[in-house]
Amino acid sequence: MRRMLSYLLPFCLASQIHAQGPPPSTEDADRVVQLLKELTEVPGPPGYEEAVRKIMTDRMRAFTDKISYDGLGSVIAQQGDAGPRIMLDAHMDELGGMVRRIRPDGFISMEMLGYWLDRALPDQRWVIMGSKGAVPAVTDIWDAHIAPHDAQGQAQRQELFLDTGARNAADVAALGISPGDPVAPVSDFAILANHRYLAKAWDDRVGCAVMLEVMRRLAKAAHPNQVFYVGTVQEEGSIEMRGAATSARIINPDVGFSLEVGIPNDVPGPGPEAAQEVLGGGPGMMLYTFSEIPNRKLVAYVKRVAADQHIPLQFDFVRGFGDDAGAIKLNGSGVPVTTVLVPARSTHAHNGIIDRGDFDRTVDLLVALIHNLDAATVAAIKSFNP
Ligand SMILES: [Zn+2]
Repeated sequence: MRRMLSYLLPFCLASQIHAQGPPPSTEDADRVVQLLKELTEVPGPPGYEEAVRKIMTDRMRAFTDKISYDGLGSVIAQQGDAGPRIMLDAHMDELGGMVRRIRPDGFISMEMLGYWLDRALPDQRWVIMGSKGAVPAVTDIWDAHIAPHDAQGQAQRQELFLDTGARNAADVAALGISPGDPVAPVSDFAILANHRYLAKAWDDRVGCAVMLEVMRRLAKAAHPNQVFYVGTVQEEGSIEMRGAATSARIINPDVGFSLEVGIPNDVPGPGPEAAQEVLGGGPGMMLYTFSEIPNRKLVAYVKRVAADQHIPLQFDFVRGFGDDAGAIKLNGSGVPVTTVLVPARSTHAHNGIIDRGDFDRTVDLLVALIHNLDAATVAAIKSFNP
């Protein structure tokens, strides 16, 4: 029986996969899948966006030769040179850390960059960018057999250290690691059922990928605007959204769209008031965050275009969420902004999930939004004349 089962199993699995959509071999070859895999797997904690910037710059070059950088490392690609100035923004950095202190026993403490939940940190794989190259590491978790418990029987909170295999501080130094070195999470991209994709750093590599796909589509489409595609730096771990502020100063946009992750609330747990999006429900738009109350006319415009295009649109209010739109809106005398979202589960963790349909519809929506903007529409959105 055992032997027969193992003989049959591959066939059952194969037919199941086919029933759920195209076979993985087709999906693997898909340009967008490759792009998402490439973008999510590279390290890019705040202030160390080099690998992401290289991918962005290389891909942008296929669609324009006007590429520049702000003074912090954000990359700006321009299509068109007349008409309203539209800024599309996605941040290149992800949550990460920085080497803080190397202990005599070789364990390394970290300064965390970005809003991590404490419980997302132990028992994870990381990479430290040292002077001699990338060094793999793990945040140890106390062994279950000996983990100390408090009086209530709960496992005690564990202090976090990176373990590189080093036996002492000299080993760590020999690996080329010193205080201030960037640390990034490690997590491989994988395709799940129903065209859902698992990876780290959806926040905000999915925004970067949407931007590149919009750029591809608009490279051949006539519209009366000039578009500035910006991969920004240092959004996570700050309240200033640094690269967005400096890029907006260069671009001086008439309208800004921040491309971000939406926060679906469709796993068991948080109550219905915490957030309202679901995975697979289409693109989202933030109506309230701690950094932004979006321009009402721009919000109405997005709703109108989405309805015209038959693209489902979800809305979200997330108090604990801020993004680059908050910096763009304060440029000059003020800029109409809103944030368009690809819903992603578990954004600030090693294993997040997006839905391919949401991704594709978000690209469609952005293309339509830019296509339908013109000088008169932008003037109407910007006007506060009662
Ligand atoms: Zn983000």
